[in-house]
Amino acid sequence: MVIDEVELRVVRVPLRAAFANAGHVTTDKVAVLVTVRGGGVEGYGEGVMEPLPWFGPETVGGALVILRQALIPDLLGRPVDDPGEVSRRWAGWRGNPMAKACLEMALWDLAARQQDRPLWQVLGGDGRPVAVGASIGLVSDRVRLLDAVAEHASQGYRRIKLKIGPGADLDPLTAVRQAFPDLALSADGNSAYTLAAASHLAGLDELDLDYLEQPLDADDLVDHAVLSAQLATPLCLDESLSSPQRVEAALDLRACSVVNVKAGRLGGLAAVLDTAARCRARHVPMWCGGMLELGVGRAHNLHLTTLPGFSLPGDTASASRTYARDIVEQPLEAVDGVMAIPPGPGIGVTLDRGFLAEVTEAVETVRR
Ligand SMILES: [Mg+2]
Repeated sequence: MVIDEVELRVVRVPLRAAFANAGHVTTDKVAVLVTVRGGGVEGYGEGVMEPLPWFGPETVGGALVILRQALIPDLLGRPVDDPGEVSRRWAGWRGNPMAKACLEMALWDLAARQQDRPLWQVLGGDGRPVAVGASIGLVSDRVRLLDAVAEHASQGYRRIKLKIGPGADLDPLTAVRQAFPDLALSADGNSAYTLAAASHLAGLDELDLDYLEQPLDADDLVDHAVLSAQLATPLCLDESLSSPQRVEAALDLRACSVVNVKAGRLGGLAAVLDTAARCRARHVPMWCGGMLELGVGRAHNLHLTTLPGFSLPGDTASASRTYARDIVEQPLEAVDGVMAIPPGPGIGVTLDRGFLAEVTEAVETVRR
């Protein structure tokens, strides 16, 4: 593939309601939308870095620098035989998996569209609809929390995840478990705890959670291994898994027994394929996490979730849960807890150009 130009577009889309986790409250989604053009075809990628480093160390501003000064000039200067190879080509620029991923994922979409094949097929998935869960942010009011869980359970979501934090963990989870004894339930601590909370977190063992996600530091694997040995509840890692090699290390250390796969955090779709192969070889269950993606990122997530080994419901729920209007024309909506894969070449979505123009904060095009 010869790439003729790359468009970088920063968009800001308001959420229908603020979404809180233990570290940050999100009210607007700010995303870098990447369009690569080659052979008269476009491919799309969506960056999941945030304006400030609330989730991971990357930021929108930092990613734009890496994209403009390193990744895009490299891409325009040398043809790409296979989108699966570019992450190795970019290894000399350290870290920054999210910046690399948004450009790499646009290349995968472009390659699939040029071949007139759906992305899932190019990746090696089965393209079948995927079971999904819903993630519910921190809600201090108990009645509102139970109402939110009831609403999502009645919509058929296959697993409900509650965001938790110190002072807002055992009580709300116990209330939800008592009200919904058979619900598939999990909890996400978003790195808000330390190992000092181990005996407190052991209280979760009575609640029959599918897993506890990322209670400790994003940088950490060792403390998670120590905590894991003290809990009956399986641990799942998210923030800590910044590459396929980190996933392997986490599993070697027994820091987790469930893996949250996020293409952006891991460095792109080649890294997802690598991670999925490692997890399958060890019979470790995977699921696709979410970053409040807009339609481009959400469509990518749906395609990658059809890879073998994604045996647990992911976070790729209906777009309309989060946004009054999306940037793509196709509604990406769950029916009874199942999301269909958008049909057609590539990721199967087209951009809503009118809405995109309304929500664009900045746009630039770099040509060969
Ligand atoms: Mg998480």
